[in-house]
Amino acid sequence: MRAAQRADSPPAPDWVFRPMRWAQLTLVEDDPPKFDLGFWLDYFKRTRSDAVCLSAGGCVAYYPTDVPFHHRSQWLGPRDVFGELVAGCRKLGMVVIARTDPHATYDDVRHAHPDWIAVDAEGKPRRHWASPEMWVTCGLGPYNFEFMTAVKREIMHRYRVDGIFINRWDGSGMCHCEHCRRNFRDAAGFALPATTNPQDRARRAYILWRQRRLFDLWRLWDHEVREINPDSCIIPNTGGGATSSLDMKQIGQLAPTLIADRQGRRDLTAPWANGKNGKEFRATMGPKPIVGIFSVGVEEPYRWKDSVQSEAEIRIWVADGVANGLRPWFTKFSGTLHDHRWLAGVEKIYRRLARWEPYLRNQAPLAGIGLVYSQQTAWFYGGDRASARVEDHTLGWYQALVEARIPFEMVHDRLLDAEHLAPFKTLILPNLAALSDEQCRQLRAFVERGGGLVATHETSLYDEWGVRRPDFGLGDLFGVRFAGRLQGPMHNAYLRLEHQTARGHPLLQGLENATRIIHGVWRLEVEPRAPLPNRLVTFIPPYPDLPMEKVYPRIARTDIPEIYVRENTGPGHPPRGRIVYFPWDIDRAYWEILSVDHFKLLRNAVLWATREPSIVTVTGPGVLDVTVWRQLRSFTVHLVNLTNPMMMKGPFRELLPVGEQTVVLRLPTGAKVRRVRLLAADKTPRTRLRGQSLTVVVPSVLDHEVVAVDLANQPA
Ligand SMILES: [Zn+2]
Repeated sequence: MRAAQRADSPPAPDWVFRPMRWAQLTLVEDDPPKFDLGFWLDYFKRTRSDAVCLSAGGCVAYYPTDVPFHHRSQWLGPRDVFGELVAGCRKLGMVVIARTDPHATYDDVRHAHPDWIAVDAEGKPRRHWASPEMWVTCGLGPYNFEFMTAVKREIMHRYRVDGIFINRWDGSGMCHCEHCRRNFRDAAGFALPATTNPQDRARRAYILWRQRRLFDLWRLWDHEVREINPDSCIIPNTGGGATSSLDMKQIGQLAPTLIADRQGRRDLTAPWANGKNGKEFRATMGPKPIVGIFSVGVEEPYRWKDSVQSEAEIRIWVADGVANGLRPWFTKFSGTLHDHRWLAGVEKIYRRLARWEPYLRNQAPLAGIGLVYSQQTAWFYGGDRASARVEDHTLGWYQALVEARIPFEMVHDRLLDAEHLAPFKTLILPNLAALSDEQCRQLRAFVERGGGLVATHETSLYDEWGVRRPDFGLGDLFGVRFAGRLQGPMHNAYLRLEHQTARGHPLLQGLENATRIIHGVWRLEVEPRAPLPNRLVTFIPPYPDLPMEKVYPRIARTDIPEIYVRENTGPGHPPRGRIVYFPWDIDRAYWEILSVDHFKLLRNAVLWATREPSIVTVTGPGVLDVTVWRQLRSFTVHLVNLTNPMMMKGPFRELLPVGEQTVVLRLPTGAKVRRVRLLAADKTPRTRLRGQSLTVVVPSVLDHEVVAVDLANQPA
């Protein structure tokens, strides 16, 4: 399916929707005489890879370049290794894109063009942190705008590749070179900022100016390569979630396809993080193809680039990406292999995905819940602490929604218009602190149309620049006023469950036996705008946690509500959406503490706000990431089995099958089922159709099962 192109977007090359399985071979400088070309071409064929990214130039040229200062591999000799690879891959019918990396260069460049080198805050040119004989280049000056433009033109002229992928193109931290200082002063009227505080005027201007420079660079490169080959494009390595630095809305307009570069787990990355990347990109890319890079090696800060990861870990990482709409891209650095153990595993994954291909050509996800993310909140409210103040709230929600098996999409906060929100019944605002008046108006309109809203903590308490408002922008929806104080970090604070006044409210489902549960860590003091008919949960203030003799509540009970639920259906009012507001950091605390009680509140809030059952429910043991998709003539439900002792701290050692799951899919009116298959098991499952409700029994899931429902017709 072709994405509708906006008037301000360049046209998509014809090939972008074709490839489903990507290969990347990143050569190292001494590869040319050593690596086995035939081996790689054979591996691409055996893996059914239909597109490839090959090292061409930038840091090292793998072809006989004529661009001055474009450094040829010292081992290249008379050969054109890049050209040989391109020819071989073309013979296999593959889409071929060239890889360039402009972030580092050599002494001769530094002598001839000292202004191409990045400069640190002390005014010194920057040596490369990992290869100290090299220099770091400036991403925003003539090195990229002139030299790398010439490199790209040469590659496109000689090889007419389908596109050029640019790694590390956006600079390596802030640059203080003469161009950056002058260009920023000319554009913004400030010296380069000396602080990372986003409330500093120069810093704010820099955050925006850097983006403008990079989007200008992108457009320049894209224009130059399309002038030579109109059916090509530039693919910068960029994009991500709230904490990424380039505006995803603009990226979504510019890019006909994009590569999500999250190669594997490190530290406490959850196994669903690859799928999260897919959702974040899709929020602004829509149905344009999004490719997910995965590494075959260990991805920790120590960067063992020649290592091999366990097969189980690679499988689950790829599975979660595929289930979330990513087209996989394996990456291997070095054409000469030091460890062969990954080859068979990746081949197995790719051959299976090739068999599933018709069911992976998704048209649209069918999830009705949207988890909103906000880069402006990260940039202007989060600043240096964006991962704790912004992203951790999202991660808490993500974990809770996966555990609750609620299919959901991510939504970009600059795309809250009615058209973009049409698929959603409920939006989740995880501490979306920085929202403009216009964004608040759009959210209000969503609720007026009947949409549900679940919001936490400081949502809308700041404007789009991260400046505190006197009161919430969405206070009328939440039913509260800000009382002026942020309290925390709290030790030993609790919530009292008010079962008597709650009278069996669904928000407290599963907590019937609890009289008090733990509170979060940060709370806002707020006051209700009108008397509350029913308190669900009230505040028990913190009390000493030591000495043990002193650990008793000083105030056992208050009447301060800590959850606000609203359902505005008074007589004469049009039906309006349900709203749940938590003045505290339940989502962030959930990510930190993983309290089961908090999980229940998060899950219940979404279910209650949504009014109607999810399009798919999956019951059975374990932790599954559940996604649901529509293809041209089928529906698919993906079940990715994350149940593993190594779920919260990888890598997986082995895949452990999870037992029977009952999948109930609510088919749209008019959809007629022709056949149901389990793709991984390669079996026809037990099914039952009652009305539009299709029940499928999945006996077991090892890593990834797909329930494929073929339709006899094409439902509206
Ligand atoms: Zn610079």
